[in-house]
Amino acid sequence: MNFWIGCTKVGAPCDYCYAENLMDARYGRVKWGAGEARVRTSASTWAQLLKWDRAAAVAGKKAFVFSLSLGDIWDNEVDPAWRRDAFAVARQCRNLVMLFLSKRIGNAVEMARDAGGLPPNSALGATFGDQRDYDRDRMKLKAASAELGALFTFGSFEPLLGPVILDKNAPDWIIVGGESGLHARPMNLDWARSLRRQSADLGRVFNFKQVGGRRADKGGHELDGRTYFDRPIVA
Ligand code: SF4
Repeated sequence: MNFWIGCTKVGAPCDYCYAENLMDARYGRVKWGAGEARVRTSASTWAQLLKWDRAAAVAGKKAFVFSLSLGDIWDNEVDPAWRRDAFAVARQCRNLVMLFLSKRIGNAVEMARDAGGLPPNSALGATFGDQRDYDRDRMKLKAASAELGALFTFGSFEPLLGPVILDKNAPDWIIVGGESGLHARPMNLDWARSLRRQSADLGRVFNFKQVGGRRADKGGHELDGRTYFDRPIVA
């Protein structure tokens, strides 16, 4: 779910941003970067959330909604009113679990408060490309989750750019994936295996998104012949 489109790169995991490549370079829908205007998506796109909520209610099963893939929920350059509007819609969707992923987790507490609080059906996530990201941001994620009452935390180790040693402050979900696309930086599968082992030791949920790579099939979704991503997530 994308409430808006557009962003500014903030670290190594952003180097070959898929959203920039798609929405700026390919479709010209937005200019990427600092000082460029973000584009709010259409009312019909926002209404999709309510449709998914009704469908989940009929199915009697909560659905996970990933947000945002074409921007960042805690982007400093987004009109705060858009975030307030987005959270107001999300609050109505009691059959959805909103997965808010960000590379700016340090902004979460202040911006969520400014938006009237994090919707109670939300999980908070942060991207960790390598050990430096993890060391810098894991406590911010944990503290923001406690402060804002998130349902749980998740770490997106995608694109995984180096080995990471977890600790007892690791997020509840560990999601691992390699980079894909023309400039994909290769992920050593042993880094992913290590995170799988550590997740088991720490009692965390482990998900494996993709091997990544330059090939069209992105190298597959299995790690050692097993699929881990078994929770349906709506884009
Ligand atoms: S935070 Fe995400 S959307 Fe924004 S530039 Fe980085 S990779 Fe792209």
